[in-house]
Amino acid sequence: MSSSGVLLAGADFLAALLLLVGLKAMSHPRTARPGVVAAGAGMLLAVLANLFLDAFGRGSLTLAFLALVALFVGGALSAVLSRRVPMTAMPEMVALFNGLGGAAAALLVFARVLAGGTPGPLALGLAVFAAPVGSASFGGSLVAVVKLQDWRLPTGRLPGRRIFTGALIVLSFALFALALLARVPEMRILSAGGALALGFLGGVALTLPIGGADMPVVIAFYNGLTGLAVGFDGVLLHSPAMVVAGVVVGASGTMLTRLMARAMNRSLAAVLFRGFGSPVSSSAPVENEPLATDAADAAVVLAYAREVVIVPGYGMAVAQAQHRLQDLARLLEKRDVRVLFAIHPVAGRMPGHMNVLLAEAGVPYDRLLDLEEANAALAVADAVLVVGANDVVNTDARNNPASPLYGMPVLEVTRAPRVLVIKRGRGRGFSGVENPLFTAENVRLVYGDASEVLGRILASVREL
Ligand code: NDP
Repeated sequence: MSSSGVLLAGADFLAALLLLVGLKAMSHPRTARPGVVAAGAGMLLAVLANLFLDAFGRGSLTLAFLALVALFVGGALSAVLSRRVPMTAMPEMVALFNGLGGAAAALLVFARVLAGGTPGPLALGLAVFAAPVGSASFGGSLVAVVKLQDWRLPTGRLPGRRIFTGALIVLSFALFALALLARVPEMRILSAGGALALGFLGGVALTLPIGGADMPVVIAFYNGLTGLAVGFDGVLLHSPAMVVAGVVVGASGTMLTRLMARAMNRSLAAVLFRGFGSPVSSSAPVENEPLATDAADAAVVLAYAREVVIVPGYGMAVAQAQHRLQDLARLLEKRDVRVLFAIHPVAGRMPGHMNVLLAEAGVPYDRLLDLEEANAALAVADAVLVVGANDVVNTDARNNPASPLYGMPVLEVTRAPRVLVIKRGRGRGFSGVENPLFTAENVRLVYGDASEVLGRILASVREL
């Protein structure tokens, strides 16, 4: 092996190690920050080593210069975007970066096609998978970005759409295989380009009919696919760093997709091919009227409790009420009230949505309880404060076999004797189904925007 080959293998190995260590560290909030830095350093090392050693190995200064420009432009763009993007727009950003990853995976294989040569059966199989899938992930992720922005798009709910989408993807695989086997260069380029275009359209067609609110699951799904495509590229290009990065992203994306689908009590097929809101998914209307209370009463309930569990949901994110919530928690703690936060895995609209917002507001990690811990804490709490959550506290999920949410693990807030719910009106949750919680005997609603209501509760607690 040449000296640059040894250097490259060493750099790849170190980069792969950094990626793995970084990812492991990301699994806990306390070590997540250094984990991100380690994984980022690994990625940078892999890119630099591969680009420069390759460029210098070929004796091409132009290539090295172009690599530097690409790194600078890409790095600067992502640095600016990451700083500017508000926390609520994070899913869009993840989708965009993920889609670009898919496009890069597809283009790498495309470049391999341009280079010519007949691949062996393994390389053929890997390339035929990686290119169309990367391209589909790019198309699908772009639609996800647009849908998350709430831009109106045609839904593509036409008869036979599943067959059409399937045909696009199968054709894309077939055309790419043809491109790799063709001997005439023009034929190779045309077929490979056509395959990428069909894969892109396949991703678009698959994603168009899916509702905007399901996009986080879809993004995790494409994340898994992009990871697999990158991993296959890595085998194809003999790059251990790419294999490790791809396999890890592929595996975590797949696991995340499964976890999210399970926490929503739906199969991935149901997310991809059916939406909420179909006739079977509506539950019976709730007949009783919810009982309301005001901020002053809510303040008394909370201030004189021994233990309070707070359940944040999507409404807290919309109202950006996390800072006021933390102010309230601090104030209650000063009065010797123990305050805990119950985090449902799919509360909000993206994985870890609540954790991120509460961490931003300075809520200590040890106050955050996962579903099981939270349900145990709810059984001994004196009061619960639900802030803009609905589906994750839907009582039908446990009590009503006819409900589409039946079987979904939820936070059992009615275990506590007093339950306060902050919401603006009669709005339903993401699933669109009624929630009998709001008319339960021990539940009182405090109507209004979460941030504004919390402001009033804070003022009332201060006066007590
Ligand atoms: P929901 O969407 O079920 O409910 C949110 C509630 O917040 C609504 O009932 C709404 O009622 C209220 N609300 C909205 N804006 C405000 C505001 N400004 N102030 C006060 N209240 C407000 O949220 P959950 O967090 O309980 O559940 C999340 C849902 O999203 C689940 O169904 C989950 O499956 C789904 N989902 C989650 C994903 C994830 O990764 N976390 C991904 C995809 C879907 P009103 O209008 O009356 O105020």
